[in-house]
Amino acid sequence: AADTGAAVVEEAVETTDGHHVEVAANVGRPEELSAAADRGADGVGLFRTEFLFLDRESPPSEDEQYEAVREALDTFPDGRVVVRTLDIGGDKRIPYLDLPEEENPFLGERGIRRSLDPDSGLFATQLRALLRAAADGAGELNVMFPLVASVEELESALDAVDSAAADLDDRGVAYERPSLGVMIETPGAVFVADELAARVDFLSIGTNDLTQYVMAADRENERVGDLHDPTYPGVVRAIHRTVEQAHAADAWVGMCGEMAGDPDLTELLVGLGLDELSMSAVTIPDVKTEVSETEYSTASERADDARLAATRSAVQTTIQDT
Ligand code: PEP
Ligand code: MG
Repeated sequence: AADTGAAVVEEAVETTDGHHVEVAANVGRPEELSAAADRGADGVGLFRTEFLFLDRESPPSEDEQYEAVREALDTFPDGRVVVRTLDIGGDKRIPYLDLPEEENPFLGERGIRRSLDPDSGLFATQLRALLRAAADGAGELNVMFPLVASVEELESALDAVDSAAADLDDRGVAYERPSLGVMIETPGAVFVADELAARVDFLSIGTNDLTQYVMAADRENERVGDLHDPTYPGVVRAIHRTVEQAHAADAWVGMCGEMAGDPDLTELLVGLGLDELSMSAVTIPDVKTEVSETEYSTASERADDARLAATRSAVQTTIQDT
C-alpha cells in the first residue's frame, strides 16, 4: 500500500462511530522504540526478544533482559507493551545455541517448542527477567508465547511462569505477574482458540506464520508467494473464528503479522473485530488515519461478506468496494 504521508496522530483513535482500536508497533531492536513513539504508536504490540540473543557469543543474562524490557516499558508509560518470549528455530537461527539441523525447520522445534525443551534452559531466565520488569517498568507488561499449537503447550508455559514466580519469591526479589497471551500462528491454535483464550488475557494473530501454515505455503519461497496471501478465505475465516472465540472468552485479540500494517486492509480487520493492530512504525500514521475514517457498523457488514466469500478475488472485491 502506498504511504500517503498521513500526519502523525498522537492520541488513541476510534472509528467515526466511536469504536476504539489500539494501533501499536512491532519492535525488533531497542532503537526502534523511540521511532515507534514518534510515529504515534499507542504501545508495543510485538516486542521481538530475539535481538537480545543476536550478534554475540552467549545468551544474555537475566539482568540484561530485564533492562531491555524496562526500556520498552519506560518508553510507553501510559501504554501496553506486549513482549514475545524467544522465538527461534525455523527462519530464526542463533549460531551459539547449536540447534540441531532439522529437515523441515518450519515444522520443527520453533517458538514455544524450543522454550519448553528441557535442554534449552533459557525460558526460566527470560521469564524471571520479565516478571521483574513487570513490577518496575512504567508501562503495562503483557507477555505472549509464539507458535503455540496446543493447550498442553500453553499449560506448560503457564507452569513455567509459576516456577519463575516461585524462584523470585525464594530470592526475595520484587516481581509482578504480567498479563499473558498466546500468538495464534498455527491451525491447531485456531481450532482450540476458545480453550486458549479461556486460559489467558489475550490472543495475538501472527498472520505471517498463520498464512504459511493455513495455506501450506512457505513464507520465504517466492515460487509459492502468490499463495502466501492472508486475503484467501481460509485465512480470513481463521482470523474471524479466532476473534469470535477470544471475545466469547472475554479476552482481547490483536494482530501483529504484516497484514495488520496494510492500510488497504484496515477496514476489513476493524470489521472483523480486532481490538488491536500492531505493525512496523512506518505504517502507523496511515493505519491510524484509516481507523479514524472507518465506520465500524459498515466495516462489520463488509467483513461478514469477506468471511463468507469463497475465493480470494471475492474477498478482495469486498475490500475494493470501500
Ligand atoms: C507472524 O508470524 O505473523 C509474526 C508476527 O511473527 P514473526 O513474523 O516474527 O514470525
Ligand atoms: Mg511468527
